[in-house]
Formats: sequence, C-alpha cells, structure tokens
Amino acid sequence: MTFEIPETMKAMMLTAYDHLELREVPVPKPGPGEVLCRIKSVAICGSDPKMIHGGYAFTNWPPYYPFIMGHEWAGQVVALGEGVEDFQVGDRVAGEAHHGCGHCENCKNGHYTVCLNYGKDGLNSKLDTGHRHYGFYWQGANAEYNVYKTGALCKIADNVSYDVASMCDTAGVAMHGVLQAGVTPGGTSVVFGPGPIGLCAMMECKALGSGRVIMIGRGAKLEKARELGADVCIDFTKEDVVARVLELTNGIGADEVMECSGADDSPYKACQMVRKAGHVALIANYHDPANLALPMNTVVFNEVQLHGSKANPGVSKMVLDFFASGKINGEALVSHTFPLEDYEKAVDIFEHKKDNSVKVVINP
Ligand SMILES: [Zn+2]
Ligand SMILES: [Zn+2]
Repeated sequence: MTFEIPETMKAMMLTAYDHLELREVPVPKPGPGEVLCRIKSVAICGSDPKMIHGGYAFTNWPPYYPFIMGHEWAGQVVALGEGVEDFQVGDRVAGEAHHGCGHCENCKNGHYTVCLNYGKDGLNSKLDTGHRHYGFYWQGANAEYNVYKTGALCKIADNVSYDVASMCDTAGVAMHGVLQAGVTPGGTSVVFGPGPIGLCAMMECKALGSGRVIMIGRGAKLEKARELGADVCIDFTKEDVVARVLELTNGIGADEVMECSGADDSPYKACQMVRKAGHVALIANYHDPANLALPMNTVVFNEVQLHGSKANPGVSKMVLDFFASGKINGEALVSHTFPLEDYEKAVDIFEHKKDNSVKVVINP
C-alpha cells in the first residue's frame, strides 16, 4: 500500500490568542522513529478553548505562534521514517498526546506523562531523550497530516471508527484517574460531572466491576449519563449531594469518587462523601485552584486517599479495547462532526455547550 503525499496541506493555525487561520503549509517529513499520519478525526478537548483564549500562558502552551493545536486524534499511517518496524503504511491508529523521553526515572517507571525531560526536544541527543506533547508543546493534529513518534500510537480495531478512536485520550484520561482511585468490585462509585470525561469514567467504573455508579450533574448531560447506564443520577441544583450519597450508602460513604466536573466546590464534597480510607481522583482542571478548599481534617482523620490525574499513561490499548467491545459506548459520545474549515464554529458549539453537544469531532 502506498499513498501519494502532497507537498502542502491545510492546517488550522493559532496565530495569536483568539486568532485562528486556515493556512496552506508544507506537509511535515517523518524523522527516524516517526511516521507521517493522515489525520482523519480530531476530538475537541476542554483544554482547547482554554489554550485558544491564552489560558495556559502560565505553562507556556503553546510555546510559539503560529501553532497547530489538536491532541485527541485518529488517522492512518501513510509514510514511515527511518528505522520504523512496529507500524506499516495503511495502519489505522489513535494517538496519545504524550511521548516520554523514555530515559528519565519517571519514564522508566511508566509515568511518561510527567516525564522529567518535559519541554526538551532531544533533537541534538543521540539517545533521543526529548519529550513530545503533541498539540500543547509540539505541533498537533488540526491539519491534514502530522508526524508522530510511533511510541505515541496505538492500532485501532476494524470496528472502531476514526471519530470514536479520536477519543482515546478522553477515555484514557478518565481511565488513568479511575485506575488510580481503584474500582471496588460490587461497590459504590461516584462520578462528578457528566461531560465527556465523566461519562467515560462512569462507563469505565461499570466495566471494571463497580456495583453501582452514581452520577452527579444536571440537565441534558445528566440525562445522557442515565441513558448510558448510570445507576443513580443526582441533580446538584435540586439536592444536597453529600447527604444523598451518605443516605444511599447507609452513612458510610462511597468507595471511590471520580471528580470530573472542575467545579470549585466538588473536590470538597468528594472528600465528604467518600468512605473512611476511600479514594478520590481529581480528573479535572480548576478555574482558581488557589482558592479551592479541601476539608483537610476529614482527609487526615478519615485517611482519604487523594489522587491527582492529568493524563493517560499506559491505558490506550485498554480504552480502545473497551471501545471495540462496546463497554465504552463511544458512538454515543460523538454529538457533532465538522470539517476543518468550520473549526471555530465547532469550538464555539463545544465550549458553550450549545445544541446539547457532548464531544465535537473535526474531520480534516
Ligand atoms: Zn484532551
Ligand atoms: Zn522522561
């Protein structure tokens, strides 16, 4: 199988805060250990509008302008760089945002999303000790093509569409938090926030053997959680969620709580509703973390186990298998698709939760 590779491609460039431009740019060439991929689907993430608005200046995302964003994607391998043996032209793949340096202590221990060489490109090192963070710190997928280290790729099953596979990172971020908290077989799990990550976390808790998953949210998304299998749905605008969870668990509390809402008061409530020695995973970004309160004496006296979770190391194959088996209903999460030309419109619909949007996917 061979593909004709054009000289130039369409790319959606972020040229400054809040300025996007569709430009014709050169198709990148794969280096050693890299492949060129034809990008088929890119899912818009909650972090994307934030980066467009300049909300990640504190962490230097993007590192330069113009910049091609997009980190939740799937596509097809169309050309191989030098020395690539683990992938072939024609392979259908999903990407991870992170590729660790592979050599630091964190990478060696499997924590490659918190690689100690973050931000270094490794281009002048014979050992290739650079880190990639595609779509944040390194060119991303909002284009017709991009090159990737093969270690950032995972093959996808024939029955998983590119649109669904583009949510490999979405489901993976949820899965990393869920695995850190641990699911108690037959127990009670709580998920805050029925957005794409929370909905994935809910389906993952069920797939991993939770006896009952309680979803906390409101409106159409809470209804979506009910449709997708949440056992109990609590509308936080109508009920005291802590009291309700304690009531449902005979005053003991939930076995584990996945905080996926990013609301300022949710981490506090999560610690109040989890059982003694229970686990709370924080799988969200917070608007004003300096002013976030946690019930520290509850955490200490109840030995609440807190886990911070920001990415998805080592879980891509697992979530892609769950997509293939239907344990995570990916099709139900994709509410809208748009061509690359309509990226700004797509971001607007996703960011402002218009038209009952859940996950909005771009097809470049
Ligand atoms: Zn993301
Ligand atoms: Zn590393």
